[in-house]
Amino acid sequence: MFDDDSRTPTNQFPAYPPRLEPLDLSEPRFQPHDRECLVCYLQRMADYGCARHQFTRHYQRISAPRATSLLERLRGWGGCCCECEIFWNVYVPNPALVDLGEDERIVWSPSCLSVRRGSSQPCELWIRRSQ
Ligand SMILES: [Zn+2]
Ligand SMILES: [Zn+2]
Repeated sequence: MFDDDSRTPTNQFPAYPPRLEPLDLSEPRFQPHDRECLVCYLQRMADYGCARHQFTRHYQRISAPRATSLLERLRGWGGCCCECEIFWNVYVPNPALVDLGEDERIVWSPSCLSVRRGSSQPCELWIRRSQ
C-alpha cells in the first residue's frame, strides 16, 4: 500500500492527492477555529490535500502570530516540506483519547480539546512521535 515502509501514515493525509497550486487562504473553510490547536487544524485541512506548509503558515499567522519559529521547529523535528510529514514524523494521535485502526489511522477522534490562544502546541489529542 505504501511503498516507502520507513514511514507509517498516521492519519488521512497520504490518501489525498498533493495540491500544488496556491490556495486562497482567506476562504472561510480554511480558517482555524477559536482555540483550535495546530495539529487538529492540520488534520481538518487534510481534506484539501497536501499544501506544502501553506496551512501551517496560515495557522501561525492567524492563531499563533508570536510563534515565528514554528515552521523551523517542525522542520527540525522531521516536518521538512509539508504537512504530511508532520503526521508521519512529528505528531501521532494520543491512543488514550483517539480510536486508531490497525494501520494507525484515526477511526474516531473527539474534536480539538483546545489550547490557550496564541499557543502553537497541539492539544492533548496529539503526542510527539517517539524518536
Ligand atoms: Zn505532503
Ligand atoms: Zn487539538
